[in-house]
This record gives sequence, structure tokens and C-alpha cells, in this order.
Amino acid sequence: MCEREHQGYIDAHNHSLNNRLELLSSNVCGCFCCLVIFTPNYITKWLDVEDGYLGPTGRCPNCGQASVIGSASCYPITTEFLTVLERYWFAMAELVPNPDPEESERVDKLRGKLWGIH
Ligand SMILES: [Zn+2]
Repeated sequence: MCEREHQGYIDAHNHSLNNRLELLSSNVCGCFCCLVIFTPNYITKWLDVEDGYLGPTGRCPNCGQASVIGSASCYPITTEFLTVLERYWFAMAELVPNPDPEESERVDKLRGKLWGIH
């Protein structure tokens, strides 16, 4: 059971770095670059201090990006949540206008919340 307060999407991003222990203690992990959800045993490649990271950092088994977050972070590992992270961190909202105005508005609202955090 997760008791930790969610700190928003900026904090969520921190869970994609230096996260080996957290990923390995998660039931499920997701990548917010390619939006694939998988169990941590699929993570076989790690980046580490010699790659310029603070510590062991999981790479997505599908796309290879260091943008993996585990359920032990207390964030919901769902396609919806990963999509919002992806839009935010990979700035897709600016590059590719969302064809669905309703969804676009919903994401904008979430993004607005993000910017309100800092
Ligand atoms: Zn990926």
C-alpha cells in the first residue's frame, strides 16, 4: 500500500533516474517514452555513474530510453499516466497537435497543474 503523497510529474521523473532498487521492488514498470508496461525482470540494461548518471538507472527493454518508472514509486503505472508524462517530458504536445480537442484540453489541464508545482 502506497502512503506517499504524489509530488506531481516533476517528481515522477526523478523516479526514472537512479532507480534500480525501486524498479526491482515494483510489481510493474512502465516507460514514458514508448508507453510500454512490463515487469521489472524485463529490464536487463542499466546506465550508471560511468554513463553520467547518479546511480543504476533502468533502461526500457523496448526503446532503450532511461525513462522507466516503477509502481514502487507510488505512481500509477497506466498507459494514461505514462502518456501524460510522455507529453510533458518529451514535449510532444507542442510538436504534434492533439487531433482530439477534448483529450487535448484534458492534457493541457494536467500540464497546467504541473507548471503550478514549481
Ligand atoms: Zn520505452
